[in-house]
Amino acid sequence: MGRWKTLQKEDLQKCAEQGLTVRKSAEFLGLKKSTLERKIQQDSVLKAIWLARPRSYKTLTYNSETQRLVDWAKKTGIPRPTLNFRIQNGWCPECILTAPVGRQAGCRHRTKPIPTEQRCPECQTVKPLTEFCSHKSRPTGRTTYCRQCHSKKSAIANVRSANRDLPEDVREVVVELYKLNKVIKNAQK
Ligand SMILES: [Zn+2]
Ligand SMILES: [Zn+2]
Repeated sequence: MGRWKTLQKEDLQKCAEQGLTVRKSAEFLGLKKSTLERKIQQDSVLKAIWLARPRSYKTLTYNSETQRLVDWAKKTGIPRPTLNFRIQNGWCPECILTAPVGRQAGCRHRTKPIPTEQRCPECQTVKPLTEFCSHKSRPTGRTTYCRQCHSKKSAIANVRSANRDLPEDVREVVVELYKLNKVIKNAQK
């Protein structure tokens, strides 16, 4: 299984040089995205490679002023994920940069209808918003993962945290056994 491979810094370097996202890099390396993220977090050499990678920056123009989203975020105090969300939902530049942060905020000039469904990045399925737990501080008002994946992920996180004293490789074996056990139980239903 790919996830047991040790991550060579040369391989990560290749991904970084090609400007791959975490997801694409994980695919390229044959690792799970969460495993790759963890490996990068836990190894200072890998972390340095990853942080130094060249990134393409999204920009936004308003009142003939073009800035990177990071800089707009600093200037307006609106978090970058919120700016991103507003752009993706077809807000006009003025509302993107001036509307107060919160669930009630909206843009009357938007070109896209208000979404009634979203894609869960875990099961890669587009589901109605009601299939996602409510989460007030997020711009969609909903969690990123669907209810099903959310509970699966938190159960796995609990297993990991209950076994945090074990060495990482052993802990991951315990997690895999837990997942396997779930699959078997579900099959028996
Ligand atoms: Zn607007
Ligand atoms: Zn899901």
